[in-house]
Amino acid sequence: MTTPLTVHLPYNRDGLGATFVPAKRGAKPAEANGHWLIVQDQRLVVIRDGYGFRLPKGLAPNGLDPSLTANPLWLGTLASTECWVTSLPREAPIPEGLVAETLVPMQGARLSDDLLSLGGMAMQLIWWETTSGYCPRCGERTERLEGEWGKRCPRCRYEHYPHLHPAAIVLVKDGDRCLLARKAGWAPNRYALIAGFVDNGESLESAVAREVKEEVGVDVTDIRYVGSQNWPFPSQLMVGFVARYAGGEISIDAEELEDARWFPATALPDLPSRHSISRFIIDHYATE
Ligand SMILES: [Zn+2]
Repeated sequence: MTTPLTVHLPYNRDGLGATFVPAKRGAKPAEANGHWLIVQDQRLVVIRDGYGFRLPKGLAPNGLDPSLTANPLWLGTLASTECWVTSLPREAPIPEGLVAETLVPMQGARLSDDLLSLGGMAMQLIWWETTSGYCPRCGERTERLEGEWGKRCPRCRYEHYPHLHPAAIVLVKDGDRCLLARKAGWAPNRYALIAGFVDNGESLESAVAREVKEEVGVDVTDIRYVGSQNWPFPSQLMVGFVARYAGGEISIDAEELEDARWFPATALPDLPSRHSISRFIIDHYATE
């Protein structure tokens, strides 16, 4: 039995190391001064810096409508500097000296992994803000638990916290062959792993077996965990597995997939970018 590799991937906060400390109850700084994570759609507003990018730092950046930065969300502290999150409407102009860079790997993300991880958390925080305004139990407007991401209902006292949705993603192997699949609309010849959300009452392993059976019609065994990735589009936790083919012919679910087929591990098709756990698993386990 091999030990799973450490998964160094963007969107996993681990990559920021101990330099990042998430927001804590009761500790919110009085003044919004520090790093600014300004999100417009799925883009992060940054400053060009040589061949890379950096975050605006200090008080709210000039040129932004003050109402957009008056009450930012507190994400936490990066290397002793507070991180503040706000969102820009889609049509808002980007102030001079700033650029909006995509946070989405499939759109050719150019930001560093650290900025992708911070921007991913900022997107998740904004998503949570826009989906947690009312109590899911009684419908009353919720209140923030000061200094953290949770919300409380003043009427029924229900407390809820950011929702993450677990999804299983799996590399199916048969000797030195890998079973990969593609969806309609992907780049030509682009294939990736089979993935799907975990259902109520289901273990991760049974979700793997069910998704593979439903999407491509084959059975798997020897399902083993190899790592995970937080995926902020909008709030998945991708749980990665490798499984061994145990029988059956490929028969795709045409509503989910355009194609699925076996590839020799030495002749794989076009794969997702290095930012995703799909690629990480293929790179590390296709030929093991
Ligand atoms: Zn309530």
